[in-house]
Amino acid sequence: MHLSRFPRVFLAHLPTPLERMDRLSDALGGPEIWIKRDDCTGMSSGGNKTRKLEFLMAEAQAEGADMVMTQGATQSNHARQTAAFAAKLGMGCHILLEDRTGYQDPDYTENGNVLLDHLHGSTTEVHPGGTDMPAAMERAAEAARAKGWRVYTIPGGGSNPTGALGYVNCALELLGQVNERGLVVDHLVTATGSSGTQAGLVAGFCALNAGIPVLGIGTRAPKERQEQMVYDLACRTAEKLGCAGVVTREDVVANTDYVGAGYGLPREDTLEAIRLFAELEGILLDPVYSGKGAAGLIDLCRKGHFKKGERVVFLHTGGSVGLFAYKGALARG
Ligand SMILES: *Cc1c(COP(=O)(O)O)cnc(C)c1O
Repeated sequence: MHLSRFPRVFLAHLPTPLERMDRLSDALGGPEIWIKRDDCTGMSSGGNKTRKLEFLMAEAQAEGADMVMTQGATQSNHARQTAAFAAKLGMGCHILLEDRTGYQDPDYTENGNVLLDHLHGSTTEVHPGGTDMPAAMERAAEAARAKGWRVYTIPGGGSNPTGALGYVNCALELLGQVNERGLVVDHLVTATGSSGTQAGLVAGFCALNAGIPVLGIGTRAPKERQEQMVYDLACRTAEKLGCAGVVTREDVVANTDYVGAGYGLPREDTLEAIRLFAELEGILLDPVYSGKGAAGLIDLCRKGHFKKGERVVFLHTGGSVGLFAYKGALARG
């Protein structure tokens, strides 16, 4: 847990606030709900990728890279935040975007995160849904290397053991905050996608023996596959930390009941969650990740899975830039 042994660029606004959500808690009538504001991490409006990129970009610099490449969905928050880090660090940035939704709406294809990718000076290329994106990125990296660039490639979502260190850091930070304030936390809920966030949290909490169960709310993959991805990465992250073996399979739990028709396709309850947070707490969620995570949180409170007398922390992973790509869906709802 000696994180300062790993290279890191200190660009995140940390610690992020830990706040009570009284009006949402009252409206749901169940547990006391708190929010960890990782939407406020800074770097192009913030989000969970900031913590990962502190470690990933430091590794890129340590390897002498002058260009970073990454890949994601059209409205990838990770792409936007990588573009911002590259700008700040004076590196080139090229992003491969996969059209996972098939949305033709110009707000989706040009606004929101895509607008900001370009504003930060990144170049982008678009691939059809179903493309083998890691392979496409390797080809693009080879082409850039042939032109003389020293390219560092970052996997989708920044989810590898280096990126997951950012969420080990979040586990440390959160545990410090709750201990300082005398708060017992019964559950942590977060959206989960490429899995680095949940894996880092699980590895961190296990290594610290925190006893805080983490529930990932799925945004793409089915339960079995999601849990296996998180578990594999949590184990590899623990190993990188020098704590091999602290994570057990039972520490990894994902609920994928709120994904709906697929990645990036909001459901009615996603939109309801976005509205509830906006109207009751003045907090902006997003239609791809945090809205689905919050829909799970809300439904599990209503069903009595999280009970009165318990304290639940919702990790806000950011993404509100994506709202501007989903104007149509939000207006229709
Ligand atoms: C990437 C992302 C997630 C998912 O985090 P993973 O580490 O990929 O599982 C959640 N919320 C937002 C807003 C994201 O951009």
